[in-house]
Amino acid sequence: MIKTKDITILGSGISGLGSAKLAKKFGINVFVSDKNSIKEKVKKHLNNNKISFKENGHDVERLLKSDEVIISPGISFSNLKKSFPNIKEEKFISELEFASRYTDAYLIAVTGSNGKTTTASLIYHLLKNNGFNVGLAGNIGVSFAESVCDFSYDYYVLEVSSFQLDHILNFKPNIAIITNISPDHLDRYDYKFQNYTNSKYRIVKNQKIEDHFIYNYNCEVTKNIFKKTKINSKIYSFSLTKNQVKNPQVFLDKNHINSLLNKKNFMLSINKIPIQGKHNLQNSMAAISVAQILKISNQKIKESLKTFKSIPHRLEHFLTIQKVKYINDSKATNVNSAFYALDSFDGPIIWIAGGVDKGNNYDDLIPMVSSKVKAIICLGKDNNKLIDVFSSHTDVIVSTDKISDAVSSAYKISKPGDVVLLSPACASFDLFKSFEERGDQFKEEVRKL
Ligand code: ADP
Repeated sequence: MIKTKDITILGSGISGLGSAKLAKKFGINVFVSDKNSIKEKVKKHLNNNKISFKENGHDVERLLKSDEVIISPGISFSNLKKSFPNIKEEKFISELEFASRYTDAYLIAVTGSNGKTTTASLIYHLLKNNGFNVGLAGNIGVSFAESVCDFSYDYYVLEVSSFQLDHILNFKPNIAIITNISPDHLDRYDYKFQNYTNSKYRIVKNQKIEDHFIYNYNCEVTKNIFKKTKINSKIYSFSLTKNQVKNPQVFLDKNHINSLLNKKNFMLSINKIPIQGKHNLQNSMAAISVAQILKISNQKIKESLKTFKSIPHRLEHFLTIQKVKYINDSKATNVNSAFYALDSFDGPIIWIAGGVDKGNNYDDLIPMVSSKVKAIICLGKDNNKLIDVFSSHTDVIVSTDKISDAVSSAYKISKPGDVVLLSPACASFDLFKSFEERGDQFKEEVRKL
């Protein structure tokens, strides 16, 4: 293991605080540095753990002297480099890299543009239900570092972002999964999709022959990994169709999920999957692959899948009023996730979309909007792009920057049998603190109807 004596942690968020606690536990001289002010609660925690810190600007001398620097996922290295041209990139690691040094647990890492939380939660559910001593961590509420500091799990399911993968050195998951790759976060990748894609591919970089890699056969960008990266691990695919692949596959055939991963045939009707939409079939297939690699019996996998509960803000059907279904998909912050949301309903759909556009290209959505979206309610500070793209493809277009107006407009337009779908395809920060706040306010307004 790399022996680090002195570490600086940049950023005092969930991952920074977790890293600080873990570093302290293992006797490393640790210092937390934040460009902005540090929350009182966090400062109290740092003081209680005798961890020194600086807020409202970095201690550059300290940073340059440290053996290693843990950079929080919210911080862009290239921006940092602009402010401090003398810093050396080799010293920078992610919390994922750091925490993985302090556990011998079996690591299952899920990355991708969409479906990470759902797939990681499904895998966790399958393992936990079948007696595994397993933790769920990463980009999902509890940081990996904090969990490693406080618990002793034999297995970890980790939700892994591209930002964490950007700064790994030796991180090596026993099972790596890429759910799919589509444009997102390009502002952090010089607006080059290939840079973002390369970052996702890094999940397999240190894998060895005894490890496993599961990928989405339906995603062309993910499949390109075989052209760009040497993969040493065993390879598996999941797909909405049966394919001519050499590797074991999980696939959909005549409304049944089939798996050829182990000798006993696995077959499950899609009606038994409790979460809706084709994308959730893909997420379920990825989770089934993991369960089979870990030798959970077919019967037990089927029983456990049945009890999985959908996660808030992901295609969450929370209310039906006068035969109109209200769906909260506030976590759909990019075009691809909104695509799958629109694809999940036959229509007519009243679609609430908008927010901070991350350079979106809406072309893929136009056929579905033309065929089944009866009205679009644009909810954002600047709705011009949505209006320009879609006004000729739907009968009604409404523009607002108030969630209450969006909901009352949807209610007025709706008829029995319709679906009112909040699936914004955009980030929430123009009008809300987070996608959670956006989804919660949506549900609150609908409940007032
Ligand atoms: P992530 O953690 O990668 O953001 P989530 O599971 O939280 O993924 O889902 C985010 C959004 O993407 C939700 O709108 C959800 O309905 C949608 N989604 C989930 N799985 C997939 C998938 N496999 N492909 C496309 N969209 C998906």
